[in-house]
Amino acid sequence: MIDGFGRKINYLRLSVTDRCNLKCYYCSNSETLAYLTHNDILTYEECLSLIRLTDSLGVNKVRLTGGEPFARKDFTEFLGLLRSELPDLDIRVTTNGTLLEGRVRLLHDIGIRWLNISLDTLNREKYGRITGRDYFTRVRQAIDDCLEAGIKVKINCVALNGFNDGELVDFVHFAQKNPVDVRFIEFMPVGEGSAWGEQYFWSAEKILADVQRIAAVAPVDHESENHGPARMYSLVEGRGRIGLISPLSNHFCATCNRFRITPDGKLRTCLFSDVEYDLMSPLRSSEGVEAVLKVMREAGAGKPIGHELLQAKRKCVSVCGRRMSSIGG
Ligand code: SAM
Repeated sequence: MIDGFGRKINYLRLSVTDRCNLKCYYCSNSETLAYLTHNDILTYEECLSLIRLTDSLGVNKVRLTGGEPFARKDFTEFLGLLRSELPDLDIRVTTNGTLLEGRVRLLHDIGIRWLNISLDTLNREKYGRITGRDYFTRVRQAIDDCLEAGIKVKINCVALNGFNDGELVDFVHFAQKNPVDVRFIEFMPVGEGSAWGEQYFWSAEKILADVQRIAAVAPVDHESENHGPARMYSLVEGRGRIGLISPLSNHFCATCNRFRITPDGKLRTCLFSDVEYDLMSPLRSSEGVEAVLKVMREAGAGKPIGHELLQAKRKCVSVCGRRMSSIGG
């Protein structure tokens, strides 16, 4: 599927739940959030149908996300089903890594070869402060278990000035010791009542300069490996790599190849735009898959060229209503 600006849409991010077992203050910072009801969430069968349809339109990579995908019942079994139904599809998962105990070997057997694990700090006490939960040791163990099982790990770390900038040296040492990609993501003003503020912003350029004061790095050739929007740097002395994702300071809209589907079956063609296309109603109606395909094609044709993030940053307002946990990131 080619959109109105010539971009090929071949990557789907599907969020299987809006629920998360963490309460990160910048993402779903309230204990009293209203969640979708059982009926309003795509069933696994419906998720599978939508993935099959996007596959028929040329999507060859799907990322399952949430909320916390492993917090949804039978998620690992769903991955197995997806793998058997669509053996050629590149299946990825983004998780907070807190619920992986006892599942890692199975994930490897299913054919999961990469996991993105979110971790904003390497300090247990700070982890508790940012997530509201004392699960740091679980996540550290999950990273080790994945590496031992042969699953490659990308650590996603939201760059928060004043919170984890002082830990850069620890993250660099961590990546020197372990064969992982540590990727810093600029904090984005997403979601109604977002905790975003100029004071927290730590730009990718500044992070790179800070990294270079700690260790020698060499840019990774992007032609040879597909890293999506991340700019990757290998550590000259070390086993892992450092990555930078800069949605604000140097956005990648011109090469955006993504569709996102929310847990309630809304298709979003831009993370930051609240324009949504309802897929659940046609899917549940007698019109069936043809009607869904029609909506997907219309959405593809209407995918916007870019977003107004920088403007929002200046005004210090959020760019879209939904929280990241109900879109999937
Ligand atoms: N629960 C899973 C996890 O923790 O990876 C998947 C969903 S979570 C919403 C996906 C990612 O979005 C996490 O790495 C989280 O830190 C990141 N995120 C949430 N809000 C963000 C924001 N405002 N700016 C940048 N990243 C954000």
